[in-house]
Amino acid sequence: AKERGKNTYVVFDPSMRSRVQDAMRLETELRRAIAQEEIVAHYQPIVSVADNVLLGFEALARWRHPERGLIFPGEFIELAEETGLIVNLGRQILSAALQDLASWCTVHPAASRLTMSVNLSARQFMQSDLVEQVRQAVRASGMPAQCLCLELTESVVMENAASARVLLERLKALQVRLAVDDFGTGYSSLAYLHQFPLDSLKVDRSFVQRLGRQDSDNAIVHAIIQLAQALRLRVVAEGVEEVAQLEVLQSLGCDAAQGYLLGKPMPAEAVLRLLAGLDSE
Ligand code: C2E
Ligand code: CA
Ligand code: CA
Ligand code: CA
Repeated sequence: AKERGKNTYVVFDPSMRSRVQDAMRLETELRRAIAQEEIVAHYQPIVSVADNVLLGFEALARWRHPERGLIFPGEFIELAEETGLIVNLGRQILSAALQDLASWCTVHPAASRLTMSVNLSARQFMQSDLVEQVRQAVRASGMPAQCLCLELTESVVMENAASARVLLERLKALQVRLAVDDFGTGYSSLAYLHQFPLDSLKVDRSFVQRLGRQDSDNAIVHAIIQLAQALRLRVVAEGVEEVAQLEVLQSLGCDAAQGYLLGKPMPAEAVLRLLAGLDSE
C-alpha cells in the first residue's frame, strides 16, 4: 500500500476492492439464482393469541444455494433491493406463496381459511404495474384475493404518503389485505396511519423481546395495541420467543403472534405435515 504522507489521502483501500468484488460476484450469482428459481419461500405460522388457532403464514425468501446450502435474506435482500433484482425475486415469491397455499387447500380444505402474507419491498412498490402483477398472481393461483396479505414497512408507506395512499387504495380494491411491517421502528406519523386502507400492524420484534422480563416496560406495546384498536386494525406481534411474552400479549389484547415459540419458518413440505397434524386433532 502507498505510504501515507502529510498531504496524501488514501484513495483506495485494497479491502474495499475485495468488498466490491464480493458484491459483484454475489450480484452475478443472485441473478443466476433467480433465473434458475433457486430462491424459494419458507413459511412461518401466524397464530391467534386468544385461542392459539393457526391463522396463516408469512412467506420468507430462502436461497437454496447448490454449494453453500440455505442462505437467509440478511445476505441477499439488501443487494437485491439495490440492484433491482428484488422485483423478479419478489414476483417469484408472491406467485410461489399463492400457489403453495392453493395446493395445500386441495389436500386440506381448512387451509382455505388461512392468510398468506408476502413482503413487498420499496422497489416493488414503485413498479408501475404492481397492481396488475398482484392481480395476475392471485388469479393464476385461483385463490380469493382476501387470502393474500401484503406487508409493507412504515418507511415505504410514509416516504411518499400521497402516492402511497393512491396505490394502497388500488391494491385494496383488489380485496387483498394490507399490513404495516416492523411497526414502531420507522417514523410513522400516527395521524397519517388512519388515512391508509390498512388491515393490520405488525409490532416489531425489538419491542416484543422486552415483554415478560422482570421489571420490563410494556408501555410501548400496550400503546401500539390501543392505537391499533382505536383505528380498527389487527395487531400481530413479531418475534415471540417465550411463553411469558405470549402471556403479556394476551393480557394486552393482541390479536395474533408470530415467532420461534409458535413455529419457525419451514419449507412447504413441512407445512403439509403441520396441516395433516391439525386435521387429525
Ligand atoms: P421481516 O419481514 O420482519 O420477517 C421476520 C423475520 O424475523 C424473518 O427473518 C423471520 O425468520 C424472523 N423471525 C421470526 N420469528 C422470530 C423469532 O422468534 N426470533 C427471531 N430472532 N427472529 C424471528 P428472515 O426470514 O431472515 O427475513 C429477514 C427479512 O428479510 C424480513 O424481515 C424481510 O424484511 C426480508 N425478506 C424476507 N423475505 C422477503 C421477500 O420475499 N421479499 C422482501 N421484499 N423481503 C423479504
Ligand atoms: Ca414481514
Ligand atoms: Ca417484520
Ligand atoms: Ca424486520
